[in-house]
This record gives sequence, C-alpha cells and structure tokens, in this order.
Amino acid sequence: MMQLFNFMKYSSLGVLLPVLLLAFADAQPVSPIAPVAPTRPAAAAPARLDLAWPTPNRAFFEGRGIEAFVQPTASGVVESGLFGGYRNGGTRFHEGIDLKALLRDKRGGPIDPIFAVLPGVVRYINLIPGNSDYGRYVVIEHTGVTPSVYSLYAHLSAVQPGLRIGDTVERGQRIATMGRSSSTIAIPKTQAHVHFELGVRLTDNFQAWYDAKGFGNRNQHGLYNGYNLVGFDPLDFFRKWRAGKVAGFQDYFAQMQQAVRVRVVTRAVPDFVRRYPSLLKKPLPTDGNTLGGWEIVCNPTGLPFAWTPLTTMETLCERPGSVRIVAYDEAIIKAWRSRSIILMTRAGPKPGRDLQDVIDVLFK
Ligand SMILES: [Zn+2]
Repeated sequence: MMQLFNFMKYSSLGVLLPVLLLAFADAQPVSPIAPVAPTRPAAAAPARLDLAWPTPNRAFFEGRGIEAFVQPTASGVVESGLFGGYRNGGTRFHEGIDLKALLRDKRGGPIDPIFAVLPGVVRYINLIPGNSDYGRYVVIEHTGVTPSVYSLYAHLSAVQPGLRIGDTVERGQRIATMGRSSSTIAIPKTQAHVHFELGVRLTDNFQAWYDAKGFGNRNQHGLYNGYNLVGFDPLDFFRKWRAGKVAGFQDYFAQMQQAVRVRVVTRAVPDFVRRYPSLLKKPLPTDGNTLGGWEIVCNPTGLPFAWTPLTTMETLCERPGSVRIVAYDEAIIKAWRSRSIILMTRAGPKPGRDLQDVIDVLFK
C-alpha cells in the first residue's frame, strides 16, 4: 500500500527528475530518492509462486516466530541468524538466513533433508568443504521465474548422491543433507544449520574481475563465487509472499527499498541486463551506438534492481567511465552500516567499497 501511495505521490516527479538532476549535478543528494517511474504498461498479474521451505521444519508456514526455525550464532541472539547486519555489533553483513536442524542422528548430528525451494537447474555444486566459507554448497538457478533468481544452500554434510551440475530439479526435491561444513568457521554440532540465500548473479565475465583484483588465490567456484552473487533477504521475501503482498520475484524487486541511485557513463551493456531483462525500466536504444550510460537503483545492500539506459545525448557532458552517486537515502544507508554503500568525501558522496565492487563486477 505504501509503495502505491509513494508512487502516486511522486510519479510526476519521475518525469522532471532527469532534468533536475542534470541541472543540479553537484547539488546535495535528495532524500528520499524518488521512485523509479514504470515505463511499461502493467502486465497481467503473474501467477503466485508455489514455494517450498528448504528444510522439513513447518514452523514458518504455521506462522510461528523466528525462534522456531532460525539458528543463532554462538551469541544466542536469534537475529544473528537473519539476513543483514546483526553480527559483531552491526558491522558484519550476513547475506542469507540460517535455518536450524530439526532432525538429529544418535550422536546429535543434523540429518534434515534439504529441498529445492522452486523448480530449477543445478548450476553449481561444491563438494570440497575446505574450498569455501560455505563448505559444501549447491546453487540452483530458477529459470522458470522472472527474474531468474538463484537459491543457495550451504554448510551441507552431503549433496544428494547422483545430483550433477545441469540437472533439473523439482520444487521440494531433496538436493542435500544439512550439516556444518565450512573452510573457515567451526560450526558446533548444536548450531548446525543450512545457510540459505536467494539472489542474482552479477556477471558471466567474473574471472576477469577476480584476476584483476589480485586476491592471491585461485577462484575455486567459477561464476558461483560469493563475490558474483548478490543476495536479498529470503525471509522478507517469503513473508511478503505468504502475506500475499507479492506474487513472485518481479513484484518483490519492484518494491525493493531504494537506497542509492548511481550513474555510470559507458557504452557497455552488462550481461546482467540481458539475463534479467525485466529489471530494465526502459528498452535499450535500438541503435546500439546511442547508449551513453546507465542510471542504476540499488537496494540497501547494493543489489542493482532497476536499470534505466541513458542515451549519449543524456551523458554528453560527462566523462566516459565515470561513476557518480546521483541520489541516496541517508536514513537507509545509516541503517545498513554492515554494507559499505556510500562514502562521504569532501567532493561529495562516492560509492563505498561494497557498491564499488558490485559496479566493477557488473561492468568488467
Ligand atoms: Zn549463514
């Protein structure tokens, strides 16, 4: 309801905004940022998704509190198992939710089966726990939904025998067994859980960015390296879906919180918008030569969810390759300090470390 209200309130601004922004390129950022004006006629309401829960725990569907299904860290504070900046006094970002074990073997080890939440294609399986913080993990791309998000299941004790990259899986199909595997974190038996993520993948050209970054070790996970995956809050999505506020991911992305609007001057079309065309707010210029850049709206954790192509006329006076913060919402940025999205400098706001990484990976 709030979204609709805001849209109606600001929709006329949407037309004026590009003009105003050009005129006041060095002005202070506006807050709150105006919503992205939809440019396409509303399509027929999409069918409501049929989602499965990743574990056999029924607590979420029964409407019970998060204590009934979320696994906290050693702190015991249940919020530490949620998506966001609940860890280390709010400074450490957790990009998924941790779902606790319901079933145990005689020695107390977790034995919960792990299920695919939607139909999809297995894109990645890491069988060597020592190769990742995620331990053994599986990534599924849900090609039948728009946008085609991925789901990720981590710290597994075993991947379902016979499951291979490229396999098609059904909603609710068993893909693994819960565990506590990780290369870096020692997860005690009592805190065994599945780390569950939903998100989008930034690029098909990830290795180029990884090599340039000089991490000093090999990228063991190809396109499914954590730096190439940007998650959103799976519990928030499941809650809105359960409440009937969203039918699926397209609705959910359209309602995402707008934290920052970035302008990138480039002629490049990132493969991101080709893989997630529904996030384009306007069609690409038909003549490829007239694309002059992008205005990209990101959510509080840096997920680029609304893309407006700009023409060369619109970016005429701007330096090719420049990246500029056009607007940001100060309150949202402050509330999400576990992610470095904006850096205040004497010259004005600049992309913070995490936002810069996202942009660099997108345009590498
Ligand atoms: Zn986790």
